[in-house]
Amino acid sequence: MTPLFGGIEAGGTKFVCAVGSGPNDIRAQMRFPTTTPTETLSRASAFFSEQARQGELAALGVASFGPIDPNPASPGFGHITSTPKSGWAYTDVVGALQQALGVPVGFDTDVNGAGLAEHRWGAAQGLDTFIYLTVGTGVGGGGMVGGRLMHGLIHPEMGHIRIPHNPIDDPFPGTCPYHGDCLEGLASGPALEARWQQSAAALPPDHPAWELEAHYLALALTNFICTLSPQRILLGGGVMNQPHLLPRIRRKVLTLLHDYVQAPAILEHIDTYIAAPALGDQAGVLGAMALAMAAIAEP
Ligand code: ADP
Ligand code: ZN
Repeated sequence: MTPLFGGIEAGGTKFVCAVGSGPNDIRAQMRFPTTTPTETLSRASAFFSEQARQGELAALGVASFGPIDPNPASPGFGHITSTPKSGWAYTDVVGALQQALGVPVGFDTDVNGAGLAEHRWGAAQGLDTFIYLTVGTGVGGGGMVGGRLMHGLIHPEMGHIRIPHNPIDDPFPGTCPYHGDCLEGLASGPALEARWQQSAAALPPDHPAWELEAHYLALALTNFICTLSPQRILLGGGVMNQPHLLPRIRRKVLTLLHDYVQAPAILEHIDTYIAAPALGDQAGVLGAMALAMAAIAEP
């Protein structure tokens, strides 16, 4: 019998819970808004308890908004840490779920989870060093280096890098509560909406917003390429629903790199080098499921 895994995509606005064994075998799925930690985690536990009647869960995975503590050796493991999201700072997510459900719980960032799912089933198969970047309510990046999910000191915070920002061309100060004009402050969905005073989805393709957006994202990607040497970069998140954005970013990355990184993957195959994730809006919850599988896999 195929073992069943539970996954929770824990987002700042919604939770998505699912049970199954992979993209073609989702047995049940439920989504609900993120409210208080107690209410939200109880709702998730109740869903999995109910599902467990149809077969025991082998493990649960949580792909969470952050910042989090993903280090199993740390006393704070399994917690969301210093989030500005009201009520959620220092919430013990793994502890609450483990206590309610009594199964092993894998825990990582939403973007590491999505990266792991893309590696297992999607657009990063066969690679050992790649980035999954989401451009949505926030900007966040994860993925693998040398076949392992990126952790290190804590976990990468690729959305908060500093990039050149010329206040004469773009006087918008940025939306990041910590840094103002970091990448997230300049290029997230809410940053677009605050700068242009309209919904990002409604900005027409020929609006100057998009050249500027592509410019900031291309600067960031160029920095990541030079720092991590990824074999591929996957760009997800709500803002990337604009189909014209990916081609613009690719062109600008080529211009910024200026033939310096001599790799056919970049110089000849930029369309697959900077690409959309294959799992679409399921990447989050499948990522959580992949973290569940990893939680009980042999090291
Ligand atoms: P989250 O980051 O909360 O998980 P999303 O990745 O869906 O969620 O990102 C939501 C953000 O994406 C919103 O702030 C919105 O501005 C932006 N967004 C959503 N749809 C579009 C679209 N079609 N075009 C551009 N921006 C969009
Ligand atoms: Zn920031």
